[in-house]
Amino acid sequence: MRIVLATRNRHKSREIAAILDREILTLDEVDFEDEVEESGVTFEANARLKARVVARFLRGRGGEPALVVADDSGLEVDALGGAPGVFSARYAGSPCDDAANNAKVLEGLRGVPASRRGAQFRCVLVAEFAGGPRDGETHVCEGVVRGKLGLHPKGRRGFGYDPLFFPEGQARTIAEMTAREKNAISHRGAAVRALREWLEQA
Ligand code: IMP
Repeated sequence: MRIVLATRNRHKSREIAAILDREILTLDEVDFEDEVEESGVTFEANARLKARVVARFLRGRGGEPALVVADDSGLEVDALGGAPGVFSARYAGSPCDDAANNAKVLEGLRGVPASRRGAQFRCVLVAEFAGGPRDGETHVCEGVVRGKLGLHPKGRRGFGYDPLFFPEGQARTIAEMTAREKNAISHRGAAVRALREWLEQA
C-alpha cells in the first residue's frame, strides 16, 4: 500500500522515511497543493485534521488505496506551562523562524536555574486509510523525549529547537548529534517505530 506523508517539512519527512525504512510519497508527489490550517489545540487534533484532509483528497482522486500519515509535534517547556506546545513552529510569529523561536524560549527562561529547565519534545502521528477495505480507519502513535534546555543554542544539525535541547543523560544537544543518533532517541523516532510495528501487523 502507498504511504503518503502529510507534511511539507523536509526535515521531518527525511527523518520519518529513514526510520520507517519504506518508500513514502510526499504531498508534492501526489499533487496536493492546499495548506491545512493547524487550528487544533492538541498535537493529536492537528495530526487528525491533516490526515483527514489529505485522505479525502486522495479518495476524490480515486486510484490505489493509500495510508496517509500525518504528524504534529513540538516542544513543551515545564517552566512555561507546556508552551510553546502546538504553537512551536510559530512561537515568535509566522512564518516559522527557528532562531527567533529559540530566542523567545530562552527569554522566557531567563534566570531559571538548570534544575527547573526541564522540557520534552512530543510527536503524535495519525495514520488514516484512504480507500481499500479499511477506508477511514485511523490509528494514533505517540513519542516523547524528556530533557533540559541549555542557556544558549549549541550545534548546527537538526532543526527547530534542537540546539537548545539536551536529552536526558546526554551532555550534547540534539543539534550536536548525527541524524542516526537523533532518530534513536527522539520523540519522532519513538512514534515512527510504534507506527512501523503497527504497520507490520496491519
Ligand atoms: P509542526 O510542523 O506544526 O509539527 O511544528 C513542529 C515545530 O515544533 C517545528 O517547527 C519545531 O519548531 C518544533 N519541533 C518539532 N519536532 C522537532 C525536532 O525534532 N527538533 C526540534 N524542533 C522540533
